[in-house]
This record gives sequence, C-alpha cells and structure tokens, in this order.
Amino acid sequence: AQAGGPGASQVPRYVRVNTLKTCVDDVIDFFRREGYSYLGKAASVEELRSLSGKKFLLDLHLPELLVFPPQTDFHDNVLYTSGHIILQDKASCLPAFLLSPAAGSHVIDACAAPGNKTSHLAAILKNKGQIFAFDVDTKRLATMSTMLMRAGVTGFQLAQQDFLTVDPGDPKYSKVAYILLDPSCSGSGMVNRVPMAEAAPSAERLQALAGFQRKVLSHGLSFPALQRLVYSTCSLHREENEDVVGAVLQEWGSAFRLVDAFPGWPCRGLAAFPGAESCLRASAADTLTHGFFVAVLERRGDGAAASR
Ligand code: SAM
Repeated sequence: AQAGGPGASQVPRYVRVNTLKTCVDDVIDFFRREGYSYLGKAASVEELRSLSGKKFLLDLHLPELLVFPPQTDFHDNVLYTSGHIILQDKASCLPAFLLSPAAGSHVIDACAAPGNKTSHLAAILKNKGQIFAFDVDTKRLATMSTMLMRAGVTGFQLAQQDFLTVDPGDPKYSKVAYILLDPSCSGSGMVNRVPMAEAAPSAERLQALAGFQRKVLSHGLSFPALQRLVYSTCSLHREENEDVVGAVLQEWGSAFRLVDAFPGWPCRGLAAFPGAESCLRASAADTLTHGFFVAVLERRGDGAAASR
C-alpha cells in the first residue's frame, strides 16, 4: 500500500487495552453498554476486514487489542481520556509484544516519543522493573510525559538525549537486557497521515536515514547485558529495513541472530539476505494495518531469552 493510497480507508480502529488500568473484559463490557455488539475473537484478517456498524472484535494476533470499524473515533471517549485505552495501530503494538520483557527487567526504549510503545512495555512489565526512555525532541517528550502519566506508567526515566551518546558502559545500564529501537524513518508505511510528497523519499534521504538506523542499531547491540532487541520502522523501504538489519548482523559476526518472530504472522521480510524472512512486515493490503517492519535480534548463547 502507498501512503495515502488505496487501503487507507480500510484500516480498522485498533484499541489497545491498557492493562495497567483495566482489563479486556471490563473494556468489552463498557463498549457493550455504549451500544456496541461484541462478536468475540476474530478467526481471520478477513473477519476484521468485514467489520462494520457498531460492532467490534478481539484481535486474532494480539491478546489485548480490540478492533472496531475504520474511522471509529474514540478521541473524546472517557476510556481514552482517562488512559484506560490507547489508540494505537495493530502493527505498532508488535514491537513491545515481541520484545516481551520479563516483569522486573531493565529495558531501554531508545527513540521513545511520543511513548505509545513505552506505555505498552510498562504494561507488559506490569510496572515492575525499569524503563530508560530517550528521545531528542522536546515537544514530543512533553506529549510523552502527559501520556505516560495518563496511562499510569511508573518506573521509568525519561531523558532528552541522543541515544547514540548513551554510554553502554555506564553502570546504570548494566542490567539492561531488552532494547526497543523504533528510530526515525521515512514514514512511508503510514497509510493516512503522510502527504504523498513524503511517501517517496529521495535516494539521498533514504541513504541518510539508513546510515542513522545502522548506527543506532549497532549502538543498541553494544549494551553488555543485552539479550534481545526489537528493531522496527513504519517504512516500506528495504533500505531502512532488511538492509539495515542484514548489514548490522554482518558487522557483529556471530554475536547475534535473528529470531523467527511470530511464525503465525502472514507477512514476512523481503529476501534481502538468507534468513530475512524471520523479520515481519505489515501493510494495509495484507494485514489491515499501517505499513511496518519488525526484526527481533537475540544474543547467541545460553543466556538468550525465550522467544515468542
Ligand atoms: N517509539 C515511538 C512511539 O511508539 O510512540 C515513536 C518513535 S518515532 C518513530 C522516532 C523518534 O526518534 C522520534 O521521536 C525522534 O525524535 C527520535 N529520535 C531521532 N533521533 C534520535 C536519537 N539520535 N536519539 C534518540 N531519539 C531520536
């Protein structure tokens, strides 16, 4: 799917239940009382595609995700304004879900603002553990502070800092076993927010983005206690996705491997290098989501965390 092109109007309204504040059953009851009919857990992407009227489903892939018809607007809904639900595209829920940090662990969210994935990480951690979140953009960090507070997230340190300047040797980060890395990208997968002009970045821009993405991914892998890192973009460009992951894996020799992430997910990485199909892709046409890319990297050896 092209940005703004066909597919944009088909993407459902995904609602992530914030388990720091509520649970799936209570949110389902709430929407029933608001006059929506709950149809149960979806069996296929086709079932999500045929959703219409005041009906909703539980997603087939992600356990805390409800699915409403496209264009449903909950921005004024009390569950949203009180942080009980997060309005987040399904594909953007994949990184934290696949990182799956154990409660109590130390996690870095390297490029974190406005914080949807940070709040998802906190929910998975049950607010137990420590999240170190970084971003360079002051405005986005301000939005993020408000959002995390509304979502009931505790146990995090938010810093306005270039992640490339965060010292992996600092004892503060000596227990960081998980990193979520969602760096700036061309945004070419965003189906309804990015103007067409931005949908086709120049070769120079792609090269600059890919250079940054490679650097930041390699920096993430240099944290000494790291076990698992999830790299994601909302780009459709292979240069920012499989090519970045392939180059950095090669740079690190045999230290890290790609995990076959979410084997049941229908859309896989492009065959840019042997094993690239272990990565995930998402698109409006195939998965009824924004265009997205996810790779899960794990340190080789006995210490690697169990994979999903
Ligand atoms: N993970 C966020 C979320 O789910 O809400 C979205 C992150 S957005 C795709 C990329 C972010 O990276 C931007 O907020 C940008 O300001 C930030 N960024 C860019 N360069 C950075 C750097 N060197 N260090 C830390 N953050 C950076």
